[in-house]
Amino acid sequence: MTDFAKRVTSIDISGIRKMFEAAGPNAINMGLGQPDFDTPENIKAAAVRAITEGKTGYTNNAGIDELRAAVADKLKRENGLEYTPKQVLITAGGSGALHAAISSLVEEGEKVVFNNPGFVSYGSLAKLAGGVPAPVALRPDLHLDVEALKEAFSDKKTKVMVLNSPANPTGMVESAETIRAVVEAAADSGVTILSDEVYEKFCYGDTKFVSAATFGDNVVTINAVSKTYAMTGWRVGFMAGNQDIIEQAVKIQQYSLACPTSIAQYAALEAYTGDQSSVEVMKAEYAARRELLISGLREMGIEVAMPEGAFYAFPKLDAETVTKIVANDVIITPGLAFGSLGDGYARMSYAASQDNIREALKRIQQVVE
Ligand code: PLP
Repeated sequence: MTDFAKRVTSIDISGIRKMFEAAGPNAINMGLGQPDFDTPENIKAAAVRAITEGKTGYTNNAGIDELRAAVADKLKRENGLEYTPKQVLITAGGSGALHAAISSLVEEGEKVVFNNPGFVSYGSLAKLAGGVPAPVALRPDLHLDVEALKEAFSDKKTKVMVLNSPANPTGMVESAETIRAVVEAAADSGVTILSDEVYEKFCYGDTKFVSAATFGDNVVTINAVSKTYAMTGWRVGFMAGNQDIIEQAVKIQQYSLACPTSIAQYAALEAYTGDQSSVEVMKAEYAARRELLISGLREMGIEVAMPEGAFYAFPKLDAETVTKIVANDVIITPGLAFGSLGDGYARMSYAASQDNIREALKRIQQVVE
């Protein structure tokens, strides 16, 4: 029996996938964080053009210059942040950025703080880097607990916090005041914030998105075309931060990946510089689905907070009910997959059509009545 490295054997395959095995072939899939829209035509056309023009070789390790400049422009225009193109590293999705950033910063034994419940990757990436995952409980309203975070930061071993707003799996969006308080507390303790902003475009009602880097230079901004432009399979994202971290992170990318796919980078260039109307269309549809799903769940007596962003609802459902719902052909994810405090909840993705959401609600009703 081969002995594998502990940093790999100590992490698990994501709990989200396990649910797929328990459901039948006609199951409605509300389990995935994947937009059900197709990538907009102008973006697909840009990729085809890149192929026919022969833009198919390796690119710079840090990504094509035009895309780094387009991301710097986007961050200035939409987020009010000043980065030069050299302060932008193009990565293989938000995942590639999280990996490169965490691996660049975290020394053996240092802690990586993130919220519990929270996105599945943060703890595993911390372990892969030799660090220690340090999940911090959300408040009962599923928002960040600033006091608990301050306490976690005061521990001299904390190096990084991953801040994710709008959040997966809760759908919550943090206020500017909360984000400012977290960034400032982190700065006081020498902690770097990685701001995972992949759901920035999906905020509903009067909820406003604010980039964490607005409040300090101890922030690395991470984002991707994946969710915004329905491009999860294209694998393009970025990190933007001070020149020093980009210079370290590019080495990780150089030796693990060489560069993100050239063709996908040209598609991402069109995504950031071309017509943005498709994003508004998708957002309006998610907003309508949010209303449909939340009102349907509440009518059945299921307790659920109104999600403020992303495309997830996080209702209170015990593990037994979740198992029954999956057996009745609606794939949802037990909250426990997102951390110990996710127990008693489930994540439902509304990246599913309104017809499918209506049918899913009927099937859930059969289980809960
Ligand atoms: N961050 C969060 C909060 C996510 O939910 C996801 C994907 O589900 C990612 C990052 C990874 O994004 P990408 O597909 O761009 O790697």
